[in-house]
Amino acid sequence: MSIKVEDYYAPDTFKRMKAFADTQETPFVVIDTQMIAQAYDDLRAGFEFAKVYYAVKANPAVEIIDLLRDKGSNFDIASIYELDKVMGQGVTPDRISYGNTIKKARDVRYFYEKGVRLYATDSEADLRNIAKAAPGSKVYVRILTDGSTSADWPLSRKFGCNPDMALDLLILAKQLGLVPYGVSFHVGSQQRDIDVWDSAIAKVKVIFDRLKTEDGITLQMINMGGGFPANYIQRTNSLETYAQEIIRFLKEDFGDDLPEIILEPGRSLIANAGVLVSEVVLVARKSRTSVERWVYTDVGKFSGLIETTDESIKFPVWTEKKGEDEEVVIAGPTCDSADIMYENYKYGLPLNLASGDRLYWFSTGAYTTSYSAVEFNGFPPLKSFYL
Ligand SMILES: *Cc1c(COP(=O)(O)O)cnc(C)c1O
Repeated sequence: MSIKVEDYYAPDTFKRMKAFADTQETPFVVIDTQMIAQAYDDLRAGFEFAKVYYAVKANPAVEIIDLLRDKGSNFDIASIYELDKVMGQGVTPDRISYGNTIKKARDVRYFYEKGVRLYATDSEADLRNIAKAAPGSKVYVRILTDGSTSADWPLSRKFGCNPDMALDLLILAKQLGLVPYGVSFHVGSQQRDIDVWDSAIAKVKVIFDRLKTEDGITLQMINMGGGFPANYIQRTNSLETYAQEIIRFLKEDFGDDLPEIILEPGRSLIANAGVLVSEVVLVARKSRTSVERWVYTDVGKFSGLIETTDESIKFPVWTEKKGEDEEVVIAGPTCDSADIMYENYKYGLPLNLASGDRLYWFSTGAYTTSYSAVEFNGFPPLKSFYL
């Protein structure tokens, strides 16, 4: 396996990131905000009619919130803390959706008092909380989808309900004085199978039709969540292809008269813009005759690379060292044997790699800083810099 910079970054961009990286001590992530701006523009160009709600959990840095605020983005928020942060950057509540279906009644009240009027739900208990704490608000119901085998980081099972239950909840929402506004789904993060959107949209269509004919309720919105791809080792279709296909699925089911469409990208907007820079702590072998080398780096599962769990996300790892590649196990610096990033999937790194050499983990702008532990083994949280 040999990773080429040009498959991931424009030469000028990488040069700029590398020049900055050379001035800092590892580990850290350097993020090029121009790449985020470009990714946002590309998404808007692909889905001209859609409203974008950035999933803040992917990377909650104020630099990113400010950039997307100025570009007119809306925000998908999961907690009162994210809410305070985003509103603290001057985002108004009409641009915010409370997208977490798991929330305390008092947190719903907090959102309501701050002016938020758009809520996700997937259970009766939560819906009743919303009716009480956020009266008259718009609600959308999240349905279960089955994209877990083709998504590298599935978000299934825990969230969403069966479509029949979604019907019940939307009818109940109306009875409780809320606005039954729409349906949402998330096909799983880093979803490599575009066809999964087809079956999800078909399920939504059934809900729209049944509510209209049987209950006189006209839904107005489809929230298609995230799932759009970043550039990792396993290549995906281009975002353009995703957009073309998904729009075709929408038009097949809804014709030209589309309801309001919401997208909630996290990974696809941010991931590609980041390079995580780490240093090799040690290279070791486990026996006199072992051919397999262990490469221990100063970043690991607890300092930003939790998505390597089960080797789910395979980040491209690049080094300046030239030389013959040989298979390695890559592991982090902590005293926890779970802190091994790649063992089964064979990464190759040059035989002359040694302590002090740097490793560059590409496409690490999303779900790294926000997942980093606070003080495990005393290691500080992952630093990040925004160019
Ligand atoms: C995490 C999350 C997203 C973002 O998903 P990506 O695959 O990173 O784009 C969007 N919506 C909801 C509700 C989420 O929980």
